[in-house]
Amino acid sequence: IERIGVYTSGGDAPGMNACLRAVVRTALANDLDVMGIRRGYEGMIEGDFVEMDRRSVSNIVQTGGTVLKSARSPAFMNPEGRARAMRMLKEYKVDALVAIGGDGTMRGANILHDEHDIPVVGCPGTIDNDLYGTDTTIGYDTALNTAIENIDRVRDTADAHNRLFLIEVMGRDAGFIALNCGIGGGAEMVLIPETITEMEVVKERLLSLMSAQRRSTIVIVAEGDELGGARGIEKALLDDSDFNDIDLRSTILGHIQRGGSPTASDRVLASRLGVGAVESLLDGHSEVMVGLVNSEVKLTPLRNVWGRKKSIDYDLLKLTQILS
Ligand code: ATP
Repeated sequence: IERIGVYTSGGDAPGMNACLRAVVRTALANDLDVMGIRRGYEGMIEGDFVEMDRRSVSNIVQTGGTVLKSARSPAFMNPEGRARAMRMLKEYKVDALVAIGGDGTMRGANILHDEHDIPVVGCPGTIDNDLYGTDTTIGYDTALNTAIENIDRVRDTADAHNRLFLIEVMGRDAGFIALNCGIGGGAEMVLIPETITEMEVVKERLLSLMSAQRRSTIVIVAEGDELGGARGIEKALLDDSDFNDIDLRSTILGHIQRGGSPTASDRVLASRLGVGAVESLLDGHSEVMVGLVNSEVKLTPLRNVWGRKKSIDYDLLKLTQILS
């Protein structure tokens, strides 16, 4: 390997820049050239490449977002798009790749490798924490802390008015953020995509909570919860006369959960995995993702990363019930 290409793809996550910095500096320390591929697979197809040196990653370890930009690329989903991307990689003499992103990004990298045989190693960069093969993903800890900070704020105002608040956090398919910020934020109830909860059960529990304590009640709802997110539940409660006397509000935290400076833990994770990705390529590994499992850097085949479902910790779910 003489020249590696690195890109960030899919939803952006705090810590992607720290990972990028680690990839670039580790590659340079091993006398490899580095090409930054802008806007993920979209830029790979268009040949939007930029040469990286030490200075191009100065002062970014602490920043959110991604200096290489990110994108979702429908064109990369078909073989013609991937063949075009491969032609660009050859033109720029890129002979190995480091992909930073979520499960879609890992799947794309896997298919590109299978079709065109280019060595590729992935780094898990997504706030959702839904990648198999790593205990936590880059950006997850930051998003969780941002969510908790905002839940605390909502709690203050909810407490002042004895309100029932529904707070929606990110997580279309996975409840990691909801479950953990529910515990950390002292929520009375947590609703996640992994569990099926009947609306009647939710109503019953809320009525009993509200009558028992006459103070604020906070429900954390993952956006992918099957009851329709915070707005869907709010509507169902407002349509029910039993809730007429309850001061009910809902709020969606939304994209604030993606932004901001990465936490110390995300910076360290991103740095370790970025170094691990380049070292793995140099050791001859390919079609794997680097992750942190029980505090150690571990490699998992890309196929398992996107093909297997990472389970939430069901003991934590029990905890939310005990503590509410
Ligand atoms: P996040 O989960 O944080 O949103 P992600 O990496 O899962 O991040 P996606 O939009 O799912 O985000 O995937 C990023 C890109 O990866 C897609 O826009 C597409 O170009 C590519 N990709 C995803 N799935 C496939 C697939 N099945 N085949 C080829 N490419 C894919």
